[in-house]
Amino acid sequence: MNNIKKLIVIVGSGFGGLNAALHLRKYNLDYSILVIDSKSQFEFKPLLYEVFSDEIKSWEVNPSFDSIYANSGITFIRNHVNFIDFDKNYLILEDNLKVEFEYLVLATGSSPNDFSIKGVKEYCSFFNTNKDQIKLKKLLDKTISVGKSNKIFIIGAGPSGVELACKVHDLYKSKFEVIIVEKTSEILNNSKTFNKEEAEKSIEKKNINLMKNYSVIEITDEEILLTNNLNKVEKFPYFDVVWTAGIKPNLPEFNQQIQKINNKILINKNLQLNDYPNVFVLGDISQIASKHTYPVTAQVAMQQGEHVALNLKLLINNEKLLPFTFNDNGEMISLGIGEASVSGIGLTFSGKLAYDLRRIIYASKMPKIDKFLKSTASWILEKKSIFKSIL
Ligand SMILES: Cc1cc2nc3c(=O)[nH]c(=O)nc-3n(C[C@H](O)[C@H](O)[C@H](O)COP(=O)(O)OP(=O)(O)OC[C@H]3O[C@@H](n4cnc5c(N)ncnc54)[C@H](O)[C@@H]3O)c2cc1C
Repeated sequence: MNNIKKLIVIVGSGFGGLNAALHLRKYNLDYSILVIDSKSQFEFKPLLYEVFSDEIKSWEVNPSFDSIYANSGITFIRNHVNFIDFDKNYLILEDNLKVEFEYLVLATGSSPNDFSIKGVKEYCSFFNTNKDQIKLKKLLDKTISVGKSNKIFIIGAGPSGVELACKVHDLYKSKFEVIIVEKTSEILNNSKTFNKEEAEKSIEKKNINLMKNYSVIEITDEEILLTNNLNKVEKFPYFDVVWTAGIKPNLPEFNQQIQKINNKILINKNLQLNDYPNVFVLGDISQIASKHTYPVTAQVAMQQGEHVALNLKLLINNEKLLPFTFNDNGEMISLGIGEASVSGIGLTFSGKLAYDLRRIIYASKMPKIDKFLKSTASWILEKKSIFKSIL
């Protein structure tokens, strides 16, 4: 086995890991930083819908890690982490390379959860990565004749399901009928009231069929089987089913059982793994003990990334670590082509203004925003001055 010795290792370079790395660099600690990710590009998932609808080009929101980390003093390697030993402080990559660490930051994000429902893996489309959106777009674009059914079922009326349903409707309304299936009686269960109301209005205006109180029990190659509150099973032929109904943490194997809640790793208020103060865990895969659950969002992951960098610096300098607190900066939902709803910082907007604001705010969150945006999306920066007061 080859052996590399690096002191701070960050596994996963999404919203949490990338932010941790970039903030750590600012502290100029006397440690090497190694970032490992299975992918070669950053994925700005909140704008995946706009890439799908061609309102934004994929290269605008998927910068390569090589370009992000170039000249930063941070080493990036593309590889998948298969195994971590927290007791002996090493991890194993998929090509069997062993990497030792003194400090570890784990931020591997999440992927769709099929809840073991029959047929989901085999027959559903997903919308979690750029690859998924390319695959779905190809399928919908290339179809000339829809065959037995023109129905596209989108499962789950959380933000992903609602945002995707609005885009698919706006893009393909002459070809497909969009149906959202939601197992509870409400859409956007964890969202702000204003965004919920705007989304409901939008769904109604677009005539998107919303099947509340329906659960998926099985998907076959031709039909989707749903059950309602009365346990009556109904079958529908479909053109496609897109699964946006839940996520599960991406976790490598560990040398021992660690404490989890809902499959998420239990951590303390300083974002450290219990009993392993040199290991920090953040973003979609983490749950702070005795805290109510934070939303599973990029906003939380980014703030935790920054906080992990700070606590790591304090730890290295033998200073007292600080507990993480989430600063809710509001919530933004895309509601079709050129439309969105924004709620937060004491303000609410919907329609075209919210759409522009959403893009501007997300643009300002892009890694290396200064260099990247100037060359790619200068129109956003031009508009940014309009919103200076609220950004
Ligand atoms: C379609 C969609 C839309 C969304 N919209 C919003 C939104 O509008 N607002 C919002 O706040 N949030 C949104 N989210 C949620 C947000 O994207 C996530 O909460 C956020 O990305 C979590 O950050 P993270 O750092 O935990 O994980 P991620 O950003 O997912 O990063 C995890 C990284 O780890 C890498 N990785 C995984 N396993 C391994 C391994 N074993 N070895 C090496 N690398 C590994 C992955 O390649 C990835 O780069 C959306 C998500 C989706 C799917």
